[in-house]
Amino acid sequence: MRITDVKCAVIGQNPVVRVVTDQGISGYGEVEAYKPYLKPHVLHLKQAIVGEDPTDVERVMLRIRRRGSFKPWGSAVSAIEMALWDIAGKAAGVPVYKLLGGKIRDRVRVYNGSVRFPMAGQSPDHYAENMQKMKEAKEGFTIIKQGVGFHSAMPARVPGFSYGEVRPQTHGFGGNRGLLTERGLKHVIACVEAMKDVLGDEVGLALDCGPGWTKADAIRFARAVEPLNLLWLEDLLTGDYTPYVDADVYRDLSMSTSTPIHTGEQIYLRQNFKELIERQAVGVVGPDPCDVGGIAELKWVAEYADLHSILMAPHGTGDGVLGMAALVQVCAALPENYIAFEYPTGNPAWWYDIVDGLPDPIVKGGFIDVWHQPGMGIDFNVKAAKQHLNEEDRDFFD
Ligand SMILES: [Mg+2]
Repeated sequence: MRITDVKCAVIGQNPVVRVVTDQGISGYGEVEAYKPYLKPHVLHLKQAIVGEDPTDVERVMLRIRRRGSFKPWGSAVSAIEMALWDIAGKAAGVPVYKLLGGKIRDRVRVYNGSVRFPMAGQSPDHYAENMQKMKEAKEGFTIIKQGVGFHSAMPARVPGFSYGEVRPQTHGFGGNRGLLTERGLKHVIACVEAMKDVLGDEVGLALDCGPGWTKADAIRFARAVEPLNLLWLEDLLTGDYTPYVDADVYRDLSMSTSTPIHTGEQIYLRQNFKELIERQAVGVVGPDPCDVGGIAELKWVAEYADLHSILMAPHGTGDGVLGMAALVQVCAALPENYIAFEYPTGNPAWWYDIVDGLPDPIVKGGFIDVWHQPGMGIDFNVKAAKQHLNEEDRDFFD
């Protein structure tokens, strides 16, 4: 089998990759939302892989892996990797998890990072009210993640929150950093306590916190919430679109508190997790299969983390429906340091009408049953999907 073409269409908010072969099989991968600008990046990789056998996944990846970097520049390479596994599974007539070593669980736990309700404000009562809605969501999540601190509207909306400048931020542009005021720190802690009052010990709470905290504030905060038994504090120091890791500072933070510290969603490749893992700099890693370099790359990071007693909670909120399918396949095969992956939703909602193979409902009691169709297990309903193609992508399925 040979690769004959690599195509990319922006469908809704997500660039979608189609790797075409000479045997009538196509593989699909998806890039995280809000990145239409990555289409040319995907297409420029085509020249390097046309003519290769897509079922020799690693051999193809050796051709393109150096053309990626930290988020958002790992996406094109990652989406192509997913599409290759999709082809390999379809060609072999087996689900992708079989090619990754087989599943060790029949259902995968997910956590809520994308089923969201508008926040009416930034007070502890608002956080409690919002958490109540997420707790009652039909998916029955057993873990909920909420944004606080620099990963929320607090810096802009809570008067006197920090000593730093407040700058606008959207999708990786801008970003705030700085020392919190005592009032600001107390405000975050009060919001966390209010959310815990709602969840009790029935549903686990994780917090996405930054990036942008100073080490001193991060240590104070992590220590203050120790009695609340949080699952993790994510990206306090670096994260999101930060193009570096700062493993040494993460290690200082982790050694100062019993609250688990988490990072990794923006990190590209296993090599960039090496110091975090070997130095015990965090308690939980969270690579995103759409940014780390693909699903085999994510599995490698999970295995290496497990050797070092570090837990695994993959990121995924913007990965869309195809990204979710990839997460289901790989997470079925991860070692037992696996906690849960961040459940992505399809946006706009018509995404659920243009693919076949998804269970309904998808999430039951906070879990997804692992499906068994070949490849990633879901495929486009081409007739329905064509109606949502932009003019310039009209030949995507041809
Ligand atoms: Mg995050």
